[in-house]
Amino acid sequence: MTAGVRDAKQLMGFEVPGDQKVALPVRHWNALKLALWKNRQGGEIIERQAIEILESCGHVEGCPGIDSAVEPCLRECPDRETRMSALVIIQATRMVTPIDAAKIANEPYYAPSREYFAEIVAELAIAQAENDAMRELLRQANIPAPTTTEQLATFPAPPPLPQLESPTG
Ligand SMILES: [Zn+2]
Repeated sequence: MTAGVRDAKQLMGFEVPGDQKVALPVRHWNALKLALWKNRQGGEIIERQAIEILESCGHVEGCPGIDSAVEPCLRECPDRETRMSALVIIQATRMVTPIDAAKIANEPYYAPSREYFAEIVAELAIAQAENDAMRELLRQANIPAPTTTEQLATFPAPPPLPQLESPTG
């Protein structure tokens, strides 16, 4: 949609999809900014380590991978697989790391309280109970329940990252 069409629609009082606003508590907004900043710091650590692994990989003479990260290693290179894994890590990290995420300097950061999250978790538990009850009704009526609430796969927690500098420090 061009800006002109959008402006015209707005003038006519239509709601333009994607232009709706949501109210967000400032502490959540700051928490999001902090999360992005941590993401960027963490991404830099991952990339740096992966580059170190990449640079420590051995090659046979004449391997195009020595000078180019886009060329595949020769079959005889001893660290062929390790190099490929390091390249995948670097590419994936660059994909998900924010290009720019400034730390929130001089802004007080109030973490959402434990009580707040306890409330949310309680609400989720109620929703889950309601969901289970409805699925049970469907089951009794011999109607197959939709599978959108299938348990998601869980992964073990990763080891802790090196300690990041405090954003307010
Ligand atoms: Zn090589």
